Amino acid sequence: MNDLRELYQEVILDHGRKPRNFGALPDANREAHGHNPLCGDKLDVHVKVKDGIVEDVKFEGAGCAISVASASLMTEALKGMTEVDARNLFEKFHAMITGDEGVTPAQLEDLDKLAVFSGVRDYPLRVKCATLGWHTMNAALENVGETVVTE
Ligand code: ZN
Repeated sequence: MNDLRELYQEVILDHGRKPRNFGALPDANREAHGHNPLCGDKLDVHVKVKDGIVEDVKFEGAGCAISVASASLMTEALKGMTEVDARNLFEKFHAMITGDEGVTPAQLEDLDKLAVFSGVRDYPLRVKCATLGWHTMNAALENVGETVVTE
């Protein structure tokens, strides 16, 4: 288990330092802004949806390693998914991090690389960091156009 934790840590640090899909997305048609006042994380998520498919997704902003790494891994996971699958993945990710019962091994397998955040559930303050990008993405899909605050 310690090896796994170390591996998870490495993936988070890597994505925190070198976030993927980071920057503007000029042809985005869904956007939202997320703010986690507890930590000071501020992220914008840009999504381009066409025919119900997430064709492209990018994010920008500033935050702690966990919030940036989580948004980075999220963008990798969502590209090419249907909007419905993207929302389902958000629910699963959220359940993994906040659920009382945890997730089954099958669900963890579904979450693939996102499982690196499974340890975050033990750190309640970090939960807001790890879910900020996801809440913001979800709001973008709903085209709420408002600022999401994780409280
Ligand atoms: Zn944070």
